[in-house]
Amino acid sequence: MKPRGGVPAWLSATLLFCTRCGAPLHFGAVEGEERERLSCDECGYIAYVNPRLVVTTIPVTESGEVILLRRGIGPGLGAWAQPGGFLEIDETAEEGAVRETLEETGLKVETTRIVGIYTRPPAAIVVVAYEARILGGESRTGPEALEITAFAPDAIPWSGIAFNTSTWALRDWVRQVRPDLAHLAEAAAEPEAS
Ligand SMILES: [Zn+2]
Repeated sequence: MKPRGGVPAWLSATLLFCTRCGAPLHFGAVEGEERERLSCDECGYIAYVNPRLVVTTIPVTESGEVILLRRGIGPGLGAWAQPGGFLEIDETAEEGAVRETLEETGLKVETTRIVGIYTRPPAAIVVVAYEARILGGESRTGPEALEITAFAPDAIPWSGIAFNTSTWALRDWVRQVRPDLAHLAEAAAEPEAS
């Protein structure tokens, strides 16, 4: 299916029927809307399509190293990323980031500040990256994390990072905490093709 009105094709393919009445959705002009929308001719329901929020942390150890995990599931299987995942409907962004970090790494953290916010339209996501302080827990691998490793800012595995949003977040974190090392991040942070 072709992208419709900026909705990625893979997402468009899941939006065929009205969630209120079950009739087919139709893409086109809708009265009162400034752009074409998916809507239901039967009941008038407008199916707004918005990005999803991915909440992540960059956990930092007392000695200033950053905790990354080697992903055990796709996308990005086998590559490095910060812990994170989709925000649930009944939690705050900070709560979601802390929960995902605990689930994926076993580490209890608290968010300390926002490193950056990164948009990736082809995946329909917005990624929030928090810097986080490690409060406790015990690092443990699992299905989602094959390895969990603390990297010094000058030893981040730039060529093995899973996602450009992760590269951008780590680049910004390095720029903020170790501006003398920013050149290491720059080469890795080229805009992605997809
Ligand atoms: Zn309907």
